[in-house]
Amino acid sequence: MLAILVFFFAHWFGSLFFHSFFLHRFASHKMYELSKNWERFFYLSTWFVQGSSYLVPRAYGVMHRMHHEFSDTEEDPHSPHFFKDVYQMMRSTILIFRSFLTGKRMPDPKFTKDYLPVWDKLDKFGHHPLTRLVFMAAYTSFYIAFAPNAWWFLLLPIHFLMGPIQGAVVNWCGHKYGYSNFDNGDHSKNSSPWGILLMGELFQNNHHYAKDDANFAKKWFEFDLTFLIMRGFHAVGIIKLNPVHLPPTKLSPQSTESALTATH
Ligand SMILES: [Zn+2]
Ligand SMILES: [Zn+2]
Repeated sequence: MLAILVFFFAHWFGSLFFHSFFLHRFASHKMYELSKNWERFFYLSTWFVQGSSYLVPRAYGVMHRMHHEFSDTEEDPHSPHFFKDVYQMMRSTILIFRSFLTGKRMPDPKFTKDYLPVWDKLDKFGHHPLTRLVFMAAYTSFYIAFAPNAWWFLLLPIHFLMGPIQGAVVNWCGHKYGYSNFDNGDHSKNSSPWGILLMGELFQNNHHYAKDDANFAKKWFEFDLTFLIMRGFHAVGIIKLNPVHLPPTKLSPQSTESALTATH
C-alpha cells in the first residue's frame, strides 16, 4: 500500500510542478529566463513526468493565453460559467487542444507572437497514442505489482489523465469558488486553503490581476509553493526571474485590506 501511495503522490505533485512551473509560468507567461539546455531539461522532464497525459507546451501556451484574454467570456476556452459540468469543460478543452496540434484550427497570431517553447520531435513522440499507451501500461503494471486489492485500481484513471484533471480542477474551482482580492472584471477566485494541493495555482484571482507576476500569493496567509521553488532556482542561477510591473490595483469589494504588497 505504501508503494502505491508514494507513487500516487509523487506523480500528482511531479505532474503539477511541471504543469505550473514549465507549462504555465514559462511556456504561457515567460515569467523567467533560462538557458536553452535548462529549457530542454525541463521540457523533457515535463513530458516524462506527465507521461500518458502530456500537454504539448505550444498548444497549452496558446490556449492559456486565450484564457487570460477572454477570461470568463464566451471565447474563454474553459470558463466554468459556460459549461454545465466539469466533464463537459474538460472535453471541450481537450478538443480545442487537439485541433491546434492537428492544424485543424489556427491560433490568432496575437497568441503566438510571444515566445513559445517548441521541441517538435519530442512533441510528435510524446503526443503519439502509442507512447501514451506505453505509459498507461507502465502505471497499470505498477498497480498490479503493488496494489493490496482491486479497489486501488480506481486511482488509475487519475494517473492516465493527470494533466487535464489538474487543469480542470484549477479552471473550474479557480473561477467559481473562493474569495477575491482584486476586481479583475471576471469570476477568478482564490480557492485557499485547498490551493496547497495545487501548488499555488488556485490563486486565480491574484494571478489574473498580475498575470506576469511569478508570485501568486499576495496576502500573508497565502502560500505559493511553486514560487518558493522558483526563488530557489533563481538563487542558484538555474532561472532568472523577470522584473514585474504590477498593474494599477483595483481592490475587490470583498477585500478588506487597503494595501497589498508583492514580494519581489
Ligand atoms: Zn484563470
Ligand atoms: Zn496564467
